[in-house]
Amino acid sequence: MSSKSQPHERKPHKRGAHPASADAPAARPPRVTAANSRPRVSTQPVKTNGANPARQAKAPGKAAPARSARRGGSVRKAPAPAPVTVRRPATGRKPVAPHQPVAARKPVGAPAAARKPAVARKPAARPVQSPRRKPRAGQSHPKRHLTLPRPIAAANAAVNGYLPLAATYLAMALVFVALVSYVRANPPAYDITLNGAEQRVFHGATIQSLLDDGLVSPTPGNLLAVDGSVIKQGGGDPFSATVDGKQTTDATTHLGVDAQVQLGDGADVTEDYDETNAEIPFDTSNQQATRDSYFLGAFHIYSKGANGVQTTRVGKVSGISVTLTTKNPISAGYGVYDADVADEKVIALTFDDGPWETTPELLDLLKENGAHATFFTVGRMVANYPDTVKREYDEGHQVCTHTWDHAAGSGQGVNLTYMTAEEQVEEVEKGFEAVDSAVGTEVTRIFRAPGGNYYGSAVSNLDGTVVAEVGWDVDTEDWRKPGADQIAKAIENAKPGQVILMHDGGGDRTQTIEALRKALPELRKQGYRFVTIDELMQTGNGLRSISG
Ligand SMILES: [Zn+2]
Repeated sequence: MSSKSQPHERKPHKRGAHPASADAPAARPPRVTAANSRPRVSTQPVKTNGANPARQAKAPGKAAPARSARRGGSVRKAPAPAPVTVRRPATGRKPVAPHQPVAARKPVGAPAAARKPAVARKPAARPVQSPRRKPRAGQSHPKRHLTLPRPIAAANAAVNGYLPLAATYLAMALVFVALVSYVRANPPAYDITLNGAEQRVFHGATIQSLLDDGLVSPTPGNLLAVDGSVIKQGGGDPFSATVDGKQTTDATTHLGVDAQVQLGDGADVTEDYDETNAEIPFDTSNQQATRDSYFLGAFHIYSKGANGVQTTRVGKVSGISVTLTTKNPISAGYGVYDADVADEKVIALTFDDGPWETTPELLDLLKENGAHATFFTVGRMVANYPDTVKREYDEGHQVCTHTWDHAAGSGQGVNLTYMTAEEQVEEVEKGFEAVDSAVGTEVTRIFRAPGGNYYGSAVSNLDGTVVAEVGWDVDTEDWRKPGADQIAKAIENAKPGQVILMHDGGGDRTQTIEALRKALPELRKQGYRFVTIDELMQTGNGLRSISG
């Protein structure tokens, strides 16, 4: 299909807009739960026992631990020995030595830029008084035990004052409950998954703190000129990161409890540039609408011609100038085209012969995978399942016609070309009207001829009735029922910009649905998005003429 290569446009890598991101988050590694994780205490070089602040405070000469009053706050706990240990080193990365003296290391926690206490410290977060603290001037209870935590000291002060003993205990209980709930809501250290391996981090951990700790050492991308040459090695994005399925280039991104983090090398970044556009005039096609030329490309268009666009970019850093086609012209006359999607990983799933009783199951599956598809419906079937067709449209799919009666009119079989010109137009128009009335609006005049029989005079007869006839690049042959695995293999072999032929009607479609259940997640993992025919025609540089 894509035998003809065009100058390839190099696009700036958009920050946080990798094609893989939206639809294809990397498979989440199995979440480690308390039940199956190894005991944490034994793996820690120093027992911090964050859940028991009193123990921490007993360390002489260390300030009482103080925490940010809010979750994810930037206050770094002062002296707590870092509980960071690497049980399994992050894939391919330098592990942190488990026996490294923890106090000497920076804890995996608040980023350097955010270490100033941004929030007022909560008294509750300072549960324990330093044992060595001297009584302040004027403090009149030197006999009181110096090891008593401050809240208890306060409570004792109350006893010595006016409050009855019961109230004192109540106050102490309240303080204890507040402490426990605070620590539970703000665990001082917790686990995340970093590049598939469990990693213990401090409260307030960010991408930057992982980098500071050397848990991952990404290679930065390069700064590229408009022509793709390297201006500066390492001048691109410093890293690429996905946190809980969301791409980010923000190093201050907070990593919560059980966060799923992928952290790797940075992407290349293209320099800023000035851009000017010029028209590419269309030519006149002398392509013939034959049975053979039909299979040169998926798009068959009888057009009056449309200009393309040529873009010149001048790099602001390099001064380099490049000129490339950013929209292909459409020739006047009949032509065969394919989708020139540039570097976009998109695929168009198409379903013929529906609607059918199993179509809703297919719609559920598409929804689960964030996939849009195109339905080439049979007009007389639409009246049987109008709600299904409406649902297709409402859920962002494109609904087109596959003719009214699968071109079975006049008793001459499923081939439009056997019909008279009037019958051809009526067959297609009635099909569109059925769709229009089911979805409540006039849909795009794109159709698929039954059996791909679109050649000869049928093409010019339908000029004005249709904008384009859409065939396919990949025939899954699912109607033969060759087994779900074989159908899945055909789907998974699709290339960017291709149109895949499947069926949601005309018989038992169990195999097709099973195949998609397997293939869609696989293709998403590879970074593919599933778009409608209308969307495909607008992707990248539009349609590209294929001369036969
Ligand atoms: Zn069909």
